[in-house]
Amino acid sequence: IISLAAEELDVESYVIGGFVRDHLLQRGDPKDIDVVAVGSGIELAKKVSELLSHKPKVQVFKNYGTAMLRAFDMEIEFVGARKESYSEDSRNPVVENGTLQDDQNRRDFTINALALSLNKNNFGELLDPFNGLEDLKSQIIRTPLDPDVTYSDDPLRMLRAIRFAAQLGFRIEKESLKAIRENKDRIKIISKERIVDELNKIMLSEKPSVGFALLHKTKLLKLILPELTALEGIDEIEGQRHKDNFWHTLEVVDNISENTDDLWLRWAALLHDIGKAPTKKFHKKIGWTFHGHEFVGAKMVYKLFKRLRLPLNEKMKFVQKMVLMSSRPIAIVDDNTTDSAVRRLVFDAGDNIEDLMTLCEADITTKNPKRFDRYHN
Ligand code: ATP
Repeated sequence: IISLAAEELDVESYVIGGFVRDHLLQRGDPKDIDVVAVGSGIELAKKVSELLSHKPKVQVFKNYGTAMLRAFDMEIEFVGARKESYSEDSRNPVVENGTLQDDQNRRDFTINALALSLNKNNFGELLDPFNGLEDLKSQIIRTPLDPDVTYSDDPLRMLRAIRFAAQLGFRIEKESLKAIRENKDRIKIISKERIVDELNKIMLSEKPSVGFALLHKTKLLKLILPELTALEGIDEIEGQRHKDNFWHTLEVVDNISENTDDLWLRWAALLHDIGKAPTKKFHKKIGWTFHGHEFVGAKMVYKLFKRLRLPLNEKMKFVQKMVLMSSRPIAIVDDNTTDSAVRRLVFDAGDNIEDLMTLCEADITTKNPKRFDRYHN
């Protein structure tokens, strides 16, 4: 139908980006399709709607020159092929009309620049100017153009590279990794909401430690979640050492992720030890202690959520509770060591987060009411 509509309007059209990538990888049911028209994407969307029997509503985003409609249980997004050029201080480029090749040049990764023709003369042909197919096979994240320019132009791509590496289990090409490290400070021009979107996608990947280890390796993590990187390292005094709480945290996150897809439980696992960096002390008699880290950690959760503009709602309170329970209170529930206790609790609750929240509330209010109230006030 898109092909027919494009022919009627006498414009070339292509399917591009994530749909083509995921189709070639045979990855699940597609939820959206991106279509490029060499001409007006908005006009093409309107024509497609006319040809469809249910005449879906076309949502037009005039400022972006894009349009979207829903059909076949998918969102179909239409855009006119464009050429982009960037300035130093913004990730919003100057946009002009362009060819398919211009449009492929502006894409972030070779595997996201693959296009399938919808034109009559070469319907179904794969247009792959940057060897994206080869990179799909060798499982590599690579930029179509100079990586230094790609990441500097739009620093969100640094997080996207890591997110795709985490989701697909691909590795990031060496030059790209180097360019990400060199451009890391430009992450400051990216809005918190977009950063959180990518963090959440990493968090929901099968093994979140893969993405977080890459964020750490490229030194982006220190800029985004310094509370976490502060946990790294092992100190030794008088022959006594403590565990590396950063790498231990990543293990806990993976472990919990094997048992639940709940985003907020995964956040709780990621933050369960953040109070340990500021509370770390060495006592001659007892060795290393992190006394009071649960309460300090729960307060830190609030600040962290505020800074990242995550909603300060029930989910945040839930994460705080989980952090609060990350040692003594939870030991009462499970009578076991801290982290295995968290795992047990999560495992017992399965995906039923309501039960888990009730359980947390009951435990804190009955076993430790004073301390809980003090922290809440
Ligand atoms: P998913 O839907 O799993 O997030 P996707 O590849 O469809 O994957 P989108 O964010 O929907 O991701 O983007 C669609 C396409 O738009 C991408 O495949 C890519 O070609 C292009 N794209 C998106 N964001 C950028 C960006 N920041 N820089 C360059 N190209 C981008």
